[in-house]
Formats: sequence, structure tokens, C-alpha cells
Amino acid sequence: MTETQTADAVIIGGGIHGTSLAFHLAERGLKPVVLERRFLGAEATGRSSGLVRMHYDLEPESRLAWVSFQYFRDWEDRVGGDCGFTRTGFLQIVEQEHADQLRANVTMHQRIGIPALVVTAEDVSRLAPGFYTQDFEIAAYEPESGYADPSSTARAFMDAAQRRGARLVQDCRVTGITVQGGRVSGVESSRGEFSAPIVVNAAGAWSARVGRMVGLDLPVDTWRHDTIFIRRPEALRREHPSVIDFQNEMYFRPETGRLTLIGLEDGNPVGEDPDEQDERARPGFVDRTVERICRRIPGMEHGSLHSAHGGYDGISPDQRAILDQAGPEGFYLACGFSGTGFKIAPGVGACMSERILDGQAVTVDISPFNLERFSIGTRLEGEHGYENVWR
Ligand SMILES: Cc1cc2nc3c(=O)[nH]c(=O)nc-3n(C[C@H](O)[C@H](O)[C@H](O)COP(=O)(O)OP(=O)(O)OC[C@H]3O[C@@H](n4cnc5c(N)ncnc54)[C@H](O)[C@@H]3O)c2cc1C
Repeated sequence: MTETQTADAVIIGGGIHGTSLAFHLAERGLKPVVLERRFLGAEATGRSSGLVRMHYDLEPESRLAWVSFQYFRDWEDRVGGDCGFTRTGFLQIVEQEHADQLRANVTMHQRIGIPALVVTAEDVSRLAPGFYTQDFEIAAYEPESGYADPSSTARAFMDAAQRRGARLVQDCRVTGITVQGGRVSGVESSRGEFSAPIVVNAAGAWSARVGRMVGLDLPVDTWRHDTIFIRRPEALRREHPSVIDFQNEMYFRPETGRLTLIGLEDGNPVGEDPDEQDERARPGFVDRTVERICRRIPGMEHGSLHSAHGGYDGISPDQRAILDQAGPEGFYLACGFSGTGFKIAPGVGACMSERILDGQAVTVDISPFNLERFSIGTRLEGEHGYENVWR
């Protein structure tokens, strides 16, 4: 029999959201414990492409991304350690039919304070020599955006939380959540019992399973996503901006060592069992991706394959996060990040700590991300929406 350990809060999941929340709770004086069934950043966070941009069609998401961007930019002062933020500039390329939405969204971003502007295809060919620019007229440009290293970011959040008294227990699978008198009282795990008045579900692709431990039927499915690294040919050695390219249903960004990381927006299976996962990219993915990147950067046909891998995130029906309290008192949800959760994690951690400790988030109003929206049949949509990102 192991002794029950106590904590001010139990956070289930040692990904970017569990560690961000641990940091923010610890900053407020709590001593949370993060329980991770494998190791820090083992799942979506460790596989994440790490894009850091603010371009969304939904204002609350842009606000979360903008708050978060300022952490990435000022990481050493704000958190400490290194998040690997690299400024590359970011381009959002859309089909001509979405040009009006793009303009309206950039206006919304500028109103929030985000450095963003609309540029022409000609501007893009100057910003990114080597890009094919004949198939669109305008793009959004964020000169300050780029990418960070998700594993280092999670590590730095956890280190900073631990310096303030938080704990991390790895190789620790939560198997049950204990409830007394309608309130959570802790969890049972492969490493014994932990008692705490607050339990947070930050279990990524496993969040629906964790929800069932308190009888909640969360609308969070699993989403599989593969990515590839290509080594650019010598002629393309100059780093290019980070890009979301709706025209070609892909995104890409540079990586050190003359690499380019690419992911596709289509063909990401929903509903697979993440415990059956194969970390290798699926058959056919490499060919499809190479063909796609060569459409935008024709010189890439002289590139070479470096590596490819895949991972799982949790996806909600409207492809937006669920940030709420639900089920027994003291049980909170930070899940359903739908393949875009890395870049908003610092802001989400700040807001969830306010929601938990003060009853309401003030950094950004996260009430639109409530769980109830699904049971009343609504979904979060941008005022000038682009449709679902993932198909
Ligand atoms: C390939 C890929 C590329 C991506 N690219 C980007 C990008 O460029 N930009 C962006 O913003 N987002 C991106 N995303 C999405 C982003 O990475 C995720 O939204 C984010 O990492 C989710 O973090 P998380 O902490 O919620 O989940 P995770 O990192 O998956 O962490 C959840 C943790 O919970 C643990 N866990 C589960 N069940 C239990 C249990 N019972 N007990 C204990 N621990 C448990 C898991 O082991 C896991 O480590 C990408 C995702 C993938 C898969």
C-alpha cells in the first residue's frame, strides 16, 4: 500500500497544456502535481510543428494567440529557460474566394493589436523568392510570427513550475477520479492515490477517456496528423517564412539544417485508437506532401526526404478548444485543441488558472469555449470564417 499524496491540484497530462497550467497555478502560489502516463511532451506536444501565429478567423482564438505570442517573444523574462522561438514571418495564403474574409480578419487582428497586414502576391514573391505566386492575389502577413520548439517549451514551463513548488510524476497513468459529495477529491493512478480539491483534464487525445472517469461524455475525438521534413536544395538555402497555404491545403515552415517541415490539412483520420499508434507517417503521405510543396515552391523537386512522423491530438466538433468546468465540482477541462493548441497554450494556461482560482478568466474571455455549446447544438464560427481547417 502506498501512502496517499496530497497536492493543491492534480493535472492529468504532461503536454503543453498541463505544463502551462502548472506554471500559472504555481505562479499564483498553488502546489499542483502533473501526472503523465509516459514522459513530458510524449504525445501531441512532442510531435507538434510548433507554428506560432495569430491568424485565426475567430476573435477569441486570435486573442489567446496574441497573449501567448508575447510569452514566446519574451520567454526568458516571462517564464525562464528557452522555448526555441524563431521569428520567420508568417504568411496566410487563401483562395481568391476568401479574399474578403482575409481582409476582414486582418482588420480584426489589427484591432486587437497584432502586427498583421495584407500583402499582394507580388510582395510575397519579394518576401519569399522561389514561391509560385500566380494562383492568389493577396495574403496576410505577420512579420513577428514564426515557430517555437514545443518539447523545450513544455520543459521550460515545467521547470519554472517546479521552481515554484509544483511536481511532475512521469510514468504515472491516472486510472480513476474520486468524487465525494459531488466534488472531486483526487485521483487513483498506477503510482498510487493523489488527493486534491481540483482535478484538470489535460489529456489531449485521451481526454474523452478521462472524462468518462467522472461520467462525462465529452465530444472529443482523436485526430491523427503526419508531418514531413525535407532538406531543401542548395539553391533554396535561404530560410522562407512560415506559411499556411489554403490553396494547397498545407502548412510549412523552415527548420534549422536547411530543412522545411510540412503538414497537410486534408487526410487526417478522425476516430483512430491512439493506443494503437504507429509513430511513422502513413503510406502515401510522403508522395502527396512532396507533390503539394512543389506546387508552391517548384525548386523543392531537388530536395531530399529527411524524415516523417505522426501524432494524435483531441478534436472537437467545431475544431475549437473546450475550456470549462464540468461534471463534479472542482473538475476542469482544457482539451479538444483540434490540431492548433500549441501556439495558444501560454494564454490558455493563464486563463484556466484565473477560471479555477477566481471563477472567471480576465486575460481573455474564454467563456465561448464552454462545453455546453455542443449540447445546445451551436458551434464556434468566425464572423468571417474560412470553414474547417482540417478535412
Ligand atoms: C503532428 C502535429 C503537429 C501539430 N502542429 C501544430 C502547430 O504547428 N501549431 C499548433 O499550435 N498546434 C499544433 N498541433 C497541435 C498541438 O500540438 C496540440 O494541440 C497540443 O500539443 C496539445 O497539447 P496537450 O497538452 O493538450 O496534449 P498532449 O501533448 O497530447 O498531452 C496530453 C498528455 O496526457 C497524457 N495522458 C493521457 N491520458 C493520461 C492518463 N490517463 N494519465 C496520465 N497521463 C495521461 C498523454 O500521455 C499526453 O502526454 C499539432 C499536433 C500534432 C499531432
